[in-house]
Amino acid sequence: MAGYHDGDGPDGGLLIIGASQAGVQLAGSLRALGHRAPITLLGDENHRPYQRPALSKDFLQGKVTSESLIFRTAEYWDEHRIRLVKGERITAIDRADDGGGVARSESGARFAFDRLALTVGARARRLDIDGADLAGVLYLRNADDALALKARMPEATDVVVIGGGFIGLEAAASADTMGRRATVLEAGPRLIGRAVGSETSDHFLGAHRGRGVDVILNAEIVRVVGADGAVTGVELADGRVVPAQIVLVGIGVIPNTDLAEAMGLECDNGIRVDEYALASDGVTIAVGDCANMPNPVRGAPPGDRIRIESVNNAIEHAKVAAYSLVGRREEYAGIPWFWSNQGDLKLQIAGLSTGYDRTVVRRDDEKGKFSVLYYRGEQIIAADCVNHPLDFMAVKNALAKGATIPADAASDVATALKSITIADPAAPLAARPAVPAER
Ligand SMILES: Cc1cc2nc3c(=O)[nH]c(=O)nc-3n(C[C@H](O)[C@H](O)[C@H](O)COP(=O)(O)OP(=O)(O)OC[C@H]3O[C@@H](n4cnc5c(N)ncnc54)[C@H](O)[C@@H]3O)c2cc1C
Repeated sequence: MAGYHDGDGPDGGLLIIGASQAGVQLAGSLRALGHRAPITLLGDENHRPYQRPALSKDFLQGKVTSESLIFRTAEYWDEHRIRLVKGERITAIDRADDGGGVARSESGARFAFDRLALTVGARARRLDIDGADLAGVLYLRNADDALALKARMPEATDVVVIGGGFIGLEAAASADTMGRRATVLEAGPRLIGRAVGSETSDHFLGAHRGRGVDVILNAEIVRVVGADGAVTGVELADGRVVPAQIVLVGIGVIPNTDLAEAMGLECDNGIRVDEYALASDGVTIAVGDCANMPNPVRGAPPGDRIRIESVNNAIEHAKVAAYSLVGRREEYAGIPWFWSNQGDLKLQIAGLSTGYDRTVVRRDDEKGKFSVLYYRGEQIIAADCVNHPLDFMAVKNALAKGATIPADAASDVATALKSITIADPAAPLAARPAVPAER
């Protein structure tokens, strides 16, 4: 790529903006590939790069320390010659024609680069109603948010969570585990409606209510009410006021596309990239939660695009980008997968269920296991597995091999899915070879 050198010259090398899951992986993968050019990994947070998932779970509940969330030791960055810059927010980028340029930060610092990668992630969508600015109305996207939430917990008896998605339910389950009265207000007719089918939503509704979390579906929130500047409750359209000393807003995220837009890059629910993580200028890299990419799943409808918010995606996408930066064209490896721990509910999702036409539910109440398999025609495309790692692994492996699991046989919960996985879904039943079991 013009203007980009691997190790020769005093220039700025690669500048990665956003020092989180995707940025850390990109920098590390490049060094693992033998890339020698200077790398600057820059982020606006005042923490060493850390993992987010525990923020709504074990960290909030005080089961793990903040130190245990840190990705790498201080020595790692020196050893790998990665310059780590904390606490600098990039607000402008001046570009040269060759892909290089200078990034300027809020503080006035300048960072020259030969090549730019945007791993800027996403930010929490803000609540836009009366009372949303009261003290105690909180969000949960980063470590500072989690610290603020944790600090308020001891004084709270009632926690209202606005939004019944993953983050909201994880936080509600944590609050409940911590002995708080937790209420989830979901505007839609079911929980986690964007990510799972109705059977899984119903299962989570029953389980959360069963453990004492109050869940109000189709909630019409009028305003957040307060006294002396602090939140005291949330008022609903039917006149009810749900008491709260903490209101946690978990209504989704917005991809950070402002820098990319200012650079003239195509954006549409994220920064549009090709299958090699290259933005519309053909030079800038965009990876992770901020990127809108071609659907990487085999058999996805042509032209289908997707923006995935998950650790696994940030990692796999960053690997694709690292290859791209060293001049190799490697496509996304593996099957998208995701997890969400909500109290004792351990959800694992393999694949992407968009476009399914039927489901098979496998439920074993005695053992607390529950799975939903999603099919498009004969082909399994995804599964939501609750407390069922074997089902999850079987589906993930089947998807990775382009195999399927016949729906009729799968409905028997006593049958292990891996024992009925079929290698070639197109072959007639009798002629289908069984897939060798995973070891
Ligand atoms: C509370 C919580 C729980 C989660 N739990 C799970 C889970 O259980 N399983 C799972 O798979 N995923 C989970 N996720 C999602 C997962 O953490 C994200 O998908 C992942 O962090 C995405 O990584 P990223 O690097 O693309 O973006 P981010 O993690 O959003 O990082 C982007 C970074 O860029 C910085 N930045 C943005 N703009 C600028 C700028 N202009 N200048 C400098 N820096 C900038 C941001 O501050 C941030 O540090 C969870 C997320 C949260 C918040």
